Amino acid sequence: MLGGIEAGGTKFICAVGDEKGTIVDRIQIPTTTPDETIPKVIEFFKKYPIEAIGIGSFGPIDVHRESPTYGHITSTPKPGWKDYPFVQGFEDEFGVPIGFNTDVNAAALGEATFGAAKGMDSCLYITVGTGIGAGALVQGQMLQGHSHPEMGHILVRRHPEDPYQGRCPYHGDCLEGLAAGPAIEGRWGQKGIELVDRNEVWELEGYYIAQALMQYILILSPKKIILGGGVMNQKQVFPSICQHLKEFLRDYVSLPELSEYIVSPGLGNDAGITGALLLAHQALTESHK
Ligand code: ADP
Ligand code: ZN
Repeated sequence: MLGGIEAGGTKFICAVGDEKGTIVDRIQIPTTTPDETIPKVIEFFKKYPIEAIGIGSFGPIDVHRESPTYGHITSTPKPGWKDYPFVQGFEDEFGVPIGFNTDVNAAALGEATFGAAKGMDSCLYITVGTGIGAGALVQGQMLQGHSHPEMGHILVRRHPEDPYQGRCPYHGDCLEGLAAGPAIEGRWGQKGIELVDRNEVWELEGYYIAQALMQYILILSPKKIILGGGVMNQKQVFPSICQHLKEFLRDYVSLPELSEYIVSPGLGNDAGITGALLLAHQALTESHK
């Protein structure tokens, strides 16, 4: 039996199940401080004969095995979580192999195994929610280099008629600063869910996301692009993205039919937790080598 944790900024989703994506039991725990949240997670897993645990975490995190701070959350503003040794705590508690990656890399793995990119060795999973993050599967591997990718913070061109200055605490008008949920609320004065009928909102959202996708496509050439997160519940963004992307790319690269290439998660809200179970399975398999 495998354990999975999708560690998000607002909630932890924990599940036990197997590498076929079957979930036997699950629990949701609010993300407060590690002292409060982690014991509840441990209590949940203690009920089961867990052989490995996979963690898909909000970041930035240290995914470098050789690093002295491997398995830590690094520079989050969330109180108590900065420099938190996430992996070590679970290793000490359970003594089983622990898989560790970003929430979005885990979601990309989940989608490529059981979801919208099933059977593909390449895909991109992007979440547009409180922040923007993306994970990528490249030639069958979750993308990692010096660290994990941070694709939500790329620079995009401001729309000439968009006066909004952006709200990324680091970069102001990066993609996240202009197009994540809080930016929509900051620009238009209402939450996305209350702006459903305002075409200009979703038209502009599509304009920014399409620029990002153009860059991801040119650099990574993914076989499928999956867009999740709260904001992407607004399905009217998809046609806007496709239309702008066509204009920006100008037929320079050949792509599949865009409505089939740029899609919602096949696993719905379970992409991340399913990926976390797969991370656990990978860790278990590696420990047998
Ligand atoms: P998180 O990123 O914290 O895990 P979400 O993916 O739900 O959680 O993202 C939350 C953000 O998405 C908020 O800014 C919220 O206003 C926005 N959001 C959530 N649901 C919707 C929706 N149905 N339509 C538009 N915006 C939404
Ligand atoms: Zn930024």
